[in-house]
Amino acid sequence: MSDQAETYGFQTEAKQLLKLMIQSLYSNREIFLRELISNASDAIDRLRFRAISEPELSAEDSEYAITIGFDADAKTLTIEDNGIGMTREEVIDNLGTIAKSGTAEFLDQLTGDQQQDATLIGQFGVGFYSTFIVADEVEVLTCGAGTDQGTRWVSAGEDEFTVEDADAARGTKVTLHLKGDALEFADGFRLRAVVRKYSDHIGVPVRMPKEAGAKEDGEAAPESPEFETINAATALWTRSRSTVEDDEYKAFYKHISHDFEDPLSWSHNKVEGKLEYTSLVYLPKHAPFDLWNRESPRGLKLYVQRVFIMDEADQFLPMYLRFVKGIVDCNDLPLNISREILQEDERVTSIRNALTKRILSTLETMANKEPDQYQAFWDEFGEVLKEGMGEDFSNRAALSKLLRFASTREDGSVKNVALDQYLERMVDDQDQIYYLVAESFENAKASPHLEVFRDKGIEVVLLFDRIDEWLMANLAEYEGKRFQDVMRADLKLPGASEEDDAGDQQDEDDPLTKRIRDALGDRVEGVRRSKRLTDSPACLVMSEFAMGAQMKKIMEATGQKVPDSKPYFEYNAEHPLLVRLDGESDEDRFADLVLVLFDQASLAEGGTLVDSTSYVNRMNRLLLELLND
Ligand code: ADP
Repeated sequence: MSDQAETYGFQTEAKQLLKLMIQSLYSNREIFLRELISNASDAIDRLRFRAISEPELSAEDSEYAITIGFDADAKTLTIEDNGIGMTREEVIDNLGTIAKSGTAEFLDQLTGDQQQDATLIGQFGVGFYSTFIVADEVEVLTCGAGTDQGTRWVSAGEDEFTVEDADAARGTKVTLHLKGDALEFADGFRLRAVVRKYSDHIGVPVRMPKEAGAKEDGEAAPESPEFETINAATALWTRSRSTVEDDEYKAFYKHISHDFEDPLSWSHNKVEGKLEYTSLVYLPKHAPFDLWNRESPRGLKLYVQRVFIMDEADQFLPMYLRFVKGIVDCNDLPLNISREILQEDERVTSIRNALTKRILSTLETMANKEPDQYQAFWDEFGEVLKEGMGEDFSNRAALSKLLRFASTREDGSVKNVALDQYLERMVDDQDQIYYLVAESFENAKASPHLEVFRDKGIEVVLLFDRIDEWLMANLAEYEGKRFQDVMRADLKLPGASEEDDAGDQQDEDDPLTKRIRDALGDRVEGVRRSKRLTDSPACLVMSEFAMGAQMKKIMEATGQKVPDSKPYFEYNAEHPLLVRLDGESDEDRFADLVLVLFDQASLAEGGTLVDSTSYVNRMNRLLLELLND
């Protein structure tokens, strides 16, 4: 370790984020104080936890507090904590780089549109760099608990920062040299208001010099000011629900999540009985930038008897609820519990089960009472919730009530149809739930497989999320009605008689069917007259057990071998093209036309052609004949 001042460049991502933060959060700049107080309170929580097993760490100074001071003349503001502090290495690491994976990709999404970017940065988490919105220089003086060497970190928030050894007491003191337009924060009255707004509810006292709020002009500052605690300093979740205001819940959410926006909803519960615990869980408004990275930190903050134990305790929620934020405070777990033990602890499992049920029932209530709010939730997190169908068998019934789909009954691609709604709208004799899986909404909507359903006024659920085929593999029925893929060969329609169904098989002897079959050869499993087409000349259908196209892609992408399955070719005998085709006596021409129909049917499903060159050659041949005629 060197005791010299050293200068380091910020990591590229950190630099970019810093700049964006200053630009897009300018109109909300008071949040920097919330972020610094959150960091200070986390630092105290972490020391308090470590001091359980190493009491000497906090022996000299065990009255934990966050102290705010300011000097209007010097234009400075300080936020000081006696928490865990940082070593020189830790400061360089923590305040010079951004460790979150996916940061570069995240930054690429930013558009330069201030409001939109503010929301995005909010999802990313605001943090320490927000100090540079109000300060043109920030100094951090810190000393890690159990070490005796302090460090000073200084930066103007541009390209670089400097670190050097310094004398410091345990903990961290952040000094902001305020920008000329941010001098409102060197004012006791303003500071108190901001602290109460955002940090009233944190478990640590926030103190300010007593006179600071009411200092008269000209009055000399006292030698050693007395302090007063300016926040309530009771952990929010320990209070009874009826005494907590919505604004307090919202502020607490921002404290634990570093989210910039209000939460969508929350649920606060105290459970007594065999196992005693309190939980306060929040649903965010927007998905975080790393929702799809299954390695990203997730989980709740764990407290035991109000002592903070760990962040990101992911054993308290299933993977498919990874977007939920919050805390759980349990009276019955030991203070020295480790992540490994959490994994196997029966009490933890039972809290997880209860929390999962509670969150699902909160969602169900929201869906019933505030459908618009639920729709907003589903649009953000629906795809993740779908994972639950495969992950959590015990809650399948509750989960399937929460699913929302696009359907042929609705105008657009909005996924807003519940299965219950579908059941209500079924036609006479309908005993199946019809669905279609496609690459995109456009592909789904245009699929020829829907023609007969439109004709008969039967609703079809349209699925086009990448997880959907997998979802359907886990969703066999709902309220006793089986799901039926409309692209499968064994399709039965409401009111169809036994003979209608048998008709499929019988038309093997039909001369046109035989000719088409010969032309297509081993490209297909079989050829039949279709009952499902009204406008299109032909379509491809899959046998009952064949793997769907989406699933096949997923399997192939993960390097697995997928068994080949051939489609059935179904044709619409009444379609003018087929009527003409039936009369075609030139066998070569007949074969060309059939192959074109086959390829086009594949394209209409959003599929790709195995041999696109042959398709183009065939088309050109036919076009040429047409022009020569
Ligand atoms: P975040 O809090 O989201 O991790 P920040 O940029 O706010 O991001 O802080 C980065 C890291 O710096 C923190 O995770 C923490 O390890 C460290 N840190 C920040 N403030 C303090 C503090 N007051 N005491 C100790 N460590 C701190």
